[in-house]
Formats: sequence, C-alpha cells, structure tokens
Amino acid sequence: MHTATNMDYGKQMWSNKMKKIKVLGIIILAIAVIILLFIGKNPLIKRLYDELKNFKSFMVVKTSGYYQNIDQNKKYYKDEKNIRIPILIYHEIPNKEPTRDQFYMQTTAKKFEKQLKGLLDEGYQFISYDNLVEYSKGKKAITEKTLLLGFDDGWIGNYTNAFPILKKYNIPAAIYVVDDQVGTENYFNWEQAKEMAGSGLISIYSHGRTHIYYNKETPETLINDVNVAYENIEKNIGKIKNKVFTYPFGAYTEEQIEKMKQAGFIQNLTDDLINYSNTLDLSRLHRYYVKQNESSYTIIKNVCEL
Ligand SMILES: [Zn+2]
Repeated sequence: MHTATNMDYGKQMWSNKMKKIKVLGIIILAIAVIILLFIGKNPLIKRLYDELKNFKSFMVVKTSGYYQNIDQNKKYYKDEKNIRIPILIYHEIPNKEPTRDQFYMQTTAKKFEKQLKGLLDEGYQFISYDNLVEYSKGKKAITEKTLLLGFDDGWIGNYTNAFPILKKYNIPAAIYVVDDQVGTENYFNWEQAKEMAGSGLISIYSHGRTHIYYNKETPETLINDVNVAYENIEKNIGKIKNKVFTYPFGAYTEEQIEKMKQAGFIQNLTDDLINYSNTLDLSRLHRYYVKQNESSYTIIKNVCEL
C-alpha cells in the first residue's frame, strides 16, 4: 500500500509535469506562429499568403459574370460582340528584385514569365497592333480572351530578359522607344532593336524623340518630333506598317490627339483602363499597367472589373 501510494504520487507528479510541459509547448508554438504571421517578411508565409490571395482572385474571376458563357475558341469580327481588349504594359524586366518598390516600373523576369504563362494557361491569346488594326477594319476575328502586350521606354531588360521569354511562348509585343535614349545606359541599342523586330514578334514603335511633356509643345512640334523619330526607327529597322505613338508621361492636349489622328498615327494613352471593341478608338488606346506583384489571376480580375 505504502509503495502503491508512493507510485500514485509519483505518477501524479509526472502527469502534472507533462501537463506543464504541454501548456508551455503550446504557448511557445503559439508565440512562434504569431511571430511568423506578423513578420510578413518570412518568404514562406508571404508565399502562402500570396497563393491564398491568388486563389481568392481566381475564384472571383471564375465565378464572375464575365467568365460565364465564354467559348475560348470562338472568334468574332468587330461589331459581332463587345469584347474586352486590354493592352498590358510593362517597363523594365530585370533579373533581380528591384531595390526599391517600383510597383510598375520593374517586373523581374521570373514574375513576368509567371504572369504571361498564367494568362496563356487561362486561354488568353496575344495579338499585335497590326492584328488590332485589321480587326478594327473588320478583316480579322479575335477571341473574347484577347490581349496586347507592350513595353514603355526601351529598357535593356526588354532585350536581355523579356525577348527570350516572348520567343519561348511565341507572344507578340510592342516596344515604344524614345529616340535619343536608344543605346544609352540602361536602354537597348538599334542593333538589338533590329534583331527583335527581325524575329517577327516585336514591333518597335515611338515614345517620342525625347522623353518630354509634349502637352507643353504645339501639335506641330509633336508631329514633327514623331515623324523624325519614325524616320530614325525606319532607317534602323525598316518600314513600319502601322505607326503607333505613346505620349511620354501620358501628357497630351486634345488638339494634339486630333492632329496626330489626322496625320495617321495610332495613339496610346496612359490611363490604366482597357479597350472595348464597341468603342475601340485607335487614336486613344487605353493601357493597363501591370504591377510586379500581381498574379495572372489578379491581372485578369482587374481587367475584368475595368
Ligand atoms: Zn516613358
């Protein structure tokens, strides 16, 4: 009996100890989880959080009205159906993460590829500006999942990083270059531009003779500058079928838009909106700025909401 009591007492002590250890363990675990959750810089937690966010966006897109009744393979001519035609815009495509948060000025090659691949996986098809012109003339049909892709400024990473990815997936894209920046530090040169254009995938268009606020200039100065820019582009690359112009800083006057239209230029705006086929206006093309941390689903969701 005596021994048994001692044993019971010993057991109880042991079980009390275990309880304390368990409670302590749970507290430590909880603190660890809280630390992990609140230090958002933990890559694993951040990744998990991003994936969850992507899934949420994905579900929103899948269940949104836009996605119902879409036949990915069916093509429509202009006026047959009101189709969304977003133009996605990027700037520099570097190898490494940008040192400061340039949410739309830089997208790493890895994220860029992931975004494009996600869009292709969702059935999106990329068309060129030449295709868009043909569509607007009723000569070409497009699907309801059509996108255009462009790059502002002519950054070197467009050649070194984006171009190989575009070739890999056979995606056409436009690059709007600033004449006096071509071949300077951080920007690709004419030889590289010619090589890209020669692939048949890349169209080189104008983003001005210089990167200035053209709205402070007369329409005549603007037209003259863009003509000089195109003389230079054609001298270096060859004939450009449809001449597209992107206003530096998105700065323009109504008079300039009108006169540029009369001069035969297609014009890009900088407004983070998308085009609809029913109201498609080649003298005022809306463009959507892709941010570096957007998943392909977020891009789809965002352009579906515009
Ligand atoms: Zn620019």
